[in-house]
Amino acid sequence: MKRRARWIAAAILLVASLECSAQMSNLSERYVKLVLAVGVHDPDYVDAYYGPPEWRTAAAEQRRSLAELDADAAAWLRELADEVLPPGAGELDRLRHRYLTTQVESLRARAKMLRGERLTFDEESRALYDAVAPVHTEEEFQGVLRELDARLPGRGSLLERYQVFRDRFEIPKDRLGAVFAAAIEGCRARTLEHIALPPSESFTIEYVTGKTWSGYNWYQGNYRSLIQINTDLPIYIDRAIDLACHEGYPGHHVYNVLLEQHLVRERGWQEFTVYPLFSPQSLIAEGTANYGIDVAFPDAERRRFEREVLFPAAGLDASGVEDYYDVMELVQKLSYAGNEAARRYRDGRIDAAAAAKWHETYALMAPERAAQRVRFIDQYGAYVINYNLGKDLVASYIERRAGPDPVRRWSEFAALISSPRLPSGLQE
Ligand SMILES: [Zn+2]
Repeated sequence: MKRRARWIAAAILLVASLECSAQMSNLSERYVKLVLAVGVHDPDYVDAYYGPPEWRTAAAEQRRSLAELDADAAAWLRELADEVLPPGAGELDRLRHRYLTTQVESLRARAKMLRGERLTFDEESRALYDAVAPVHTEEEFQGVLRELDARLPGRGSLLERYQVFRDRFEIPKDRLGAVFAAAIEGCRARTLEHIALPPSESFTIEYVTGKTWSGYNWYQGNYRSLIQINTDLPIYIDRAIDLACHEGYPGHHVYNVLLEQHLVRERGWQEFTVYPLFSPQSLIAEGTANYGIDVAFPDAERRRFEREVLFPAAGLDASGVEDYYDVMELVQKLSYAGNEAARRYRDGRIDAAAAAKWHETYALMAPERAAQRVRFIDQYGAYVINYNLGKDLVASYIERRAGPDPVRRWSEFAALISSPRLPSGLQE
């Protein structure tokens, strides 16, 4: 009798968990369709999609109203809240629930913005990206600017002197292909030592113009990416490793490949076949893509690689490596100045010209680059926080777990980019 009771209990559990997984697949499919439907109203929203093509066609044909989609999303959230995790659910299942909830809350916020609701910069970043960037004052940046001033003596403004200094490190246009090929090879080899990737993964590179960004990864599914590099403005030597790691290995390309391999194919979690750009997932994507540069190339190793491989490939004088990267390390500390400009600009406290000027003064950007940055903010809003705040949140999450051991850093990094963890989950 006792054995029979146990058998019945096991059967009930099995049926319950099958029903649960059927309901999760149903919710997952509806999530994908919701994202595609919002994408009909916002051409930048669907960054990648490699599920059934007819779902995208259907979304375009139906062109459901944003109000209707918002009501659907609210109902969807109530249904997900009723889903109890199956017995024996692991960490990934728990993360998945939270991921889906937060992603759909963010989708509702985006739909509201598309209907004309105005959010402040901080409200927008919390609603869309599950994080708020800290406030920094002009005085903090001025301290770094004084250090740079001492390092770059001579005539003219600091921005002019920095430009003259930096011009020595521009990659000649006819060498871009060779330099990027060498950088990608370096990033790929280092990544493959620590992360197993499917043998068929690959990407193609295109050089483009007329964009608000400097590089972009368009994930195509099937372990393939299209990487575009914008050549509107001069490309300096530090961008070779930065872009190769950020867009490629171990950045966006690897992130998307691992999600497809481990979550979509192995677990059947369809929600990862779509990537809504204005969503918390982007903070993880950009933050890991930026932190991945330091994982693949710790400072001394990077300088060695620049000296021995990239400077020669670009035809630059390798005796300038130390000087260049010492200065770039300081300039890097000005990155949060861009968030301050964006916050003031989006909140209507300064206009576009003043926002560009702010980038020139506090982030040391050349006028053309500052103008490009303001166009980026016009197009993507509070998205800017995903790069620097994202990197800092990811760095502290990984370093808290792995300590200084570079091998453990790689394994924590690989685990993070194979999971549905969200910005608020990085504080755990
Ligand atoms: Zn990126």
